[in-house]
Amino acid sequence: MKVGVVAIGSIEQRWSDAVERHIRAVFGFSTERLPPLDRVEFALDERRAQYSSSLILRELATLGPPAVSRVVGITECDIFIPMLKFVFGQAQLGGQIAVISLARLRQEFYGLPSDAELLDLRMKKVLVHELGHTFGLTHCTDRTCVMVLSTNLDQLDAKLDAFCGSCLGLIREHLGNVDHE
Ligand SMILES: [Zn+2]
Ligand SMILES: [Zn+2]
Repeated sequence: MKVGVVAIGSIEQRWSDAVERHIRAVFGFSTERLPPLDRVEFALDERRAQYSSSLILRELATLGPPAVSRVVGITECDIFIPMLKFVFGQAQLGGQIAVISLARLRQEFYGLPSDAELLDLRMKKVLVHELGHTFGLTHCTDRTCVMVLSTNLDQLDAKLDAFCGSCLGLIREHLGNVDHE
């Protein structure tokens, strides 16, 4: 399994590096840096002054597969889906594409002093969660599991950066099935 990583819009390269590092450490997959998606205006909703994560996913879908099995985009843009004020990330359930945003993970966004370590941990949780969705995982009821729904930072900070035993089992099953395809 190889995961392609795409930097979306203006973002420091160390974030793509961090995404690759976490994917290798958590899932054991190899990673590949795909060409960046520099211009992201196509996804801008001017009224909301936010970017449509669904439009970004659609664009990412044209970049990665079949060269890689999964594509993860990382952006500083504040992303949303119509029914919510914002999302930390979005993924195709059982699909190949995911996007995560740093915008609302930064302490500075809430007028607090920056915390690089906390930001990296939050990013890792969102990344692992969204990739989990691509393996068909839905939201978990184990409060510490990374697959718990988090619609705000308190919920994100309260959970761990790892799958519970049940979610891990489902991922292993999914990957086992992929091997036999
Ligand atoms: Zn989710
Ligand atoms: Zn779980």
